[in-house]
Amino acid sequence: MVKLTFHGGTHKVGGNAVTVKSKEANLLLEYGVKPGNPPEFPGHVRARDIDGIIVGHAHLDHSGGTPLFYLNEKKPIFHTRTTGDLMKILIRDLIKLNSYYLPFEYLELEKMQLQRKDLGYGQKVKLKDAEFQLLDAGHIPGSAMVDITVNGKKILYTSDFNTVNTRLTNAAKIPRKRYDAVIVESTYAMHEHPDRKALETEFIKDIKSTLNQGGKVLVPAFAVGRSHEILSVLHAHKLNEYTLLDGMARAVNQVMLDIPESVKTPKTYAKAVRNVHEIRGWRDRRQAVRKAKVIVAPSGMLQGGTVMFYMEKLGLDPMNSIFIVSFQVPGTNGAKLMETGMFPIKDKPTKVNAKVKHFDFSSHSGKTPVQSFLRGLKGKPDIYVMHGEEESCDFLAEWVRDELDLNGVAPNRDDEFKI
Ligand SMILES: [Zn+2]
Ligand SMILES: [Zn+2]
Repeated sequence: MVKLTFHGGTHKVGGNAVTVKSKEANLLLEYGVKPGNPPEFPGHVRARDIDGIIVGHAHLDHSGGTPLFYLNEKKPIFHTRTTGDLMKILIRDLIKLNSYYLPFEYLELEKMQLQRKDLGYGQKVKLKDAEFQLLDAGHIPGSAMVDITVNGKKILYTSDFNTVNTRLTNAAKIPRKRYDAVIVESTYAMHEHPDRKALETEFIKDIKSTLNQGGKVLVPAFAVGRSHEILSVLHAHKLNEYTLLDGMARAVNQVMLDIPESVKTPKTYAKAVRNVHEIRGWRDRRQAVRKAKVIVAPSGMLQGGTVMFYMEKLGLDPMNSIFIVSFQVPGTNGAKLMETGMFPIKDKPTKVNAKVKHFDFSSHSGKTPVQSFLRGLKGKPDIYVMHGEEESCDFLAEWVRDELDLNGVAPNRDDEFKI
């Protein structure tokens, strides 16, 4: 018998945590947070009860809470090398911004680094009666799905995945195994993404039209992956204007250059970022913004980060454009900007005169790709749906029951299942 327990990330995006427990082994699949003040944690899992942690990718909703397991224990933590390096950057930043609210400090992050077990895709690991490997998830550099065999049961945990090729990542493939249980994300289970090629063409056309009118383009983007994909798109379309990369995206860029296997085409990527100007401080930032044509800066939802400075500099001029390329959680500055055209500049709600437009550069599978993925799985696995808004999780679980005639469930927090 194997027991699955859902500790977090159920009926919502943020704070993924699932345990897979057999007679001998107890594996923790991710332990994320939902960033905010204070950050939200999944349900309590005792550090001494687990044998190890497996993390799909570095986004904080999957990795942010993991140092909590290193207050006293020394359990191994498994992920790709890229994920490990990116986690170091992202969790360091999480601690810097929220130290008051967090139950761990830099010391625990350091202690966790000592237990790192970096894995390549397809590299098998045995832990008591469990065996597992990581498979490329195509979501962001270093991202992985987790394939586990324990006590004769085969389990797939998708974490976040994308079955469409992007400039940075290879598409996730449908594993050939017959699984007994599949735990799947549902972020975009109700939403189709536009065709990637057409989207890129429109994005580049709109950038050129802004530049031709003498304006500048600001692209608020997530610090991991999206910023770098945008730079790759600019390069692929030979848009060689003076481009700035700011914020945490710079450190992340260095990880991708240091670990060539983290991106699909390392040489092309290195070329794409060669001429990008990396901002090194406030004086540099103030000077560079005058010369820059395209600026890529986190945070993607315009909730802090250096993008706030650029909004102040560029947001009021109707010649400029703000091209939003990330998902906007309702209630964030980015979502409000798209709905109302207003933005807090120097803490005062201000009318933005620059053109604001959204481009759906997603790194998650959309509605049809998620369905094709599940349809393509062999055998008759039970499907557990998580990591989506309430209605998204329920929608996909219902689709699984109605269309695939499989057992589709959208668990609630602390729900347990025997497989
Ligand atoms: Zn993610
Ligand atoms: Zn996620």
